[in-house]
Amino acid sequence: MDETQDATIVSLDTVVSPDTVNYITANFIADFIAEDLRTGRYTYVHTRFPPEPNGWLHIGHCKALIVDFSMAQQFGGKCNLRFDDTNPEKEDSSYVEAIKRDVRWLGFDWEDREYYASDYYEYLYDLAVRIIKKGKAYVDDLSEDAISEYRGTAAGDKNNGFSLKAAIINTPPGRNSPYRDRTVEENLDLFTRMRQGEFPDGAKTLRAKIDMASPNLLLRDPVMYRIRRDTHYRTGTAWCIYPMYDFQHPLSDAKERITHSLCSREYENHRPLYEWFIQEAEVFPSRQIEFARLNLTHTVLSKRYLLKLVQEKYVAGWDDPRMPTIAGLRRRGYTPQALRSFVTQIGIAKNDSMVDIAFLEYCLREDLNKHSQRVMAVLRPLKLIIENWESDREEELEAVNNPEDPAAGKRRIRFSRELWIEREDFAEVPPPQYYRLYPGNKVRLRYGYIVTCTGFDREPSTGAITAVRCTYDPETRGGNAPHNQKVKSTIHWVSCGHAIPLEVRLYDHLFQVERPMEVPPGGSFMDTLNPQSIEVIPTAYGEPCLGEAALGDRYQFERLGYFVRDPETREDSGGNKPVFNRTVGLRDTWTRTIKKIEKKKADFS
Ligand code: ATP
Ligand code: MG
Repeated sequence: MDETQDATIVSLDTVVSPDTVNYITANFIADFIAEDLRTGRYTYVHTRFPPEPNGWLHIGHCKALIVDFSMAQQFGGKCNLRFDDTNPEKEDSSYVEAIKRDVRWLGFDWEDREYYASDYYEYLYDLAVRIIKKGKAYVDDLSEDAISEYRGTAAGDKNNGFSLKAAIINTPPGRNSPYRDRTVEENLDLFTRMRQGEFPDGAKTLRAKIDMASPNLLLRDPVMYRIRRDTHYRTGTAWCIYPMYDFQHPLSDAKERITHSLCSREYENHRPLYEWFIQEAEVFPSRQIEFARLNLTHTVLSKRYLLKLVQEKYVAGWDDPRMPTIAGLRRRGYTPQALRSFVTQIGIAKNDSMVDIAFLEYCLREDLNKHSQRVMAVLRPLKLIIENWESDREEELEAVNNPEDPAAGKRRIRFSRELWIEREDFAEVPPPQYYRLYPGNKVRLRYGYIVTCTGFDREPSTGAITAVRCTYDPETRGGNAPHNQKVKSTIHWVSCGHAIPLEVRLYDHLFQVERPMEVPPGGSFMDTLNPQSIEVIPTAYGEPCLGEAALGDRYQFERLGYFVRDPETREDSGGNKPVFNRTVGLRDTWTRTIKKIEKKKADFS
């Protein structure tokens, strides 16, 4: 299936509006379902989420999950988890486990309704026989290549409505296979022998007899079964023929008495086929309804493309924090709440759109801001020496854990003569509008004192600055302490004698361009990968409490962004160094974009 991201970027000013928050419940799918219940087409609602276990789930699946589960819930129905596992070459039980873990983490509960299309092989086989007996399917000896050549190629091959329209006008009819008119008896005999393993892989297929002149190429006698000797992760070698997706999917839905089979838009052209199989197999009439696929800028959302990144080792695995997979986002520090809020606010539309990744980050910040404990950490350390502080003197200062949440309380942090500050918070010669430390200037040390820079030390051979010197004013203790000095800047710090070393990883977009799938002919989406999507800082320093952080604990490092404890730990001479991933920076590019748009609008009106 072609799932290129050829949609327009979601208009920035339509997304963030209070009206869209409830968009999941108020959407066209809900309207269809309500109408179906009103007319009596169905008396209940039952949906399913049908991943193929050939990769890990991504954020697009979060949208599908929300649609499937929320529609069931809204109408008092149920939602199944079904693995569409009919491709032995690509599927694996490790994928099943990863998918289940991620669905659960996102907060969806399928209870005991866990199904596998591979459990339906016998049932599907019987339905294929039923269709053969009606004269509606035949065994073909043409090769895969010959089949597609006979079928013809046209713009209609693309899975979107526009090219279908073009196809209706432009496509010449396909040609019938010379085996199309085999008798029912011959077809039944050959199909039985296909199952028994009499023919080599690829020697024969079972095809639906529909319409070789259809403008929709998918209806030109699609393949229902192929011969493939491969060990399936669940059925082993019990079968050497495997059903194709378009045949398997509607009939699996029917078996589970699914009422509304909700799927993304790349299946739109498959709908007539979905209905044809249901009708010819004479099974429960499930109904397919499509919604817009989620596309995000600067990434790709399709398992098969993500698999390529994993296989070719552009990322460290499916859960690499740069991946748009649920596991990658979790390791990066995303919360289920942020992901669900993002999808809910975008809403469900019919037309595909491309959503700015800045909006996802905005939803994330909204959530993290409320719940993350604040701490101080220094990524690029430079020593600050307070000359009028005795070398063995220590003091405890009080720091607020979360200004958004008074219940989070306060903590005590150690202050001493030597501190780590950020290298960029000192300038030998200040650039214009620089209010941080430079000789003669004052800043406040967060939660601590106001200090005045008195000078700095230089390494004679290299000229590098090795330490900054200052004096403190004892009258200015604590952020809110009364004092008569005003400073323009507050900087963060940690005490050299108390801070613990950390490894910190900073991330950037995985792809340099907004739409990696839109590459010039002959190119690949891989060409647009960002070679600088990760920066590792081997030795940063943080407050000692970070040493006790559990995996997945989230923090705001003041002035630096939101960070999460990674499962990895680094060996260090002084013990083990915890690893922290930057989830997202503090700067909100989204609101700025919106403001810019609003300003432009105002300028024009
Ligand atoms: P593949 O590349 O293997 O086709 P996929 O990413 O499309 O992988 P599927 O297993 O085909 O994943 O999809 C499972 C379900 O999730 C389907 O119902 C599909 O419609 C839906 N889905 C997949 N991708 C998206 C997306 N980007 N937005 C919304 N729904 C999606
Ligand atoms: Mg797909």
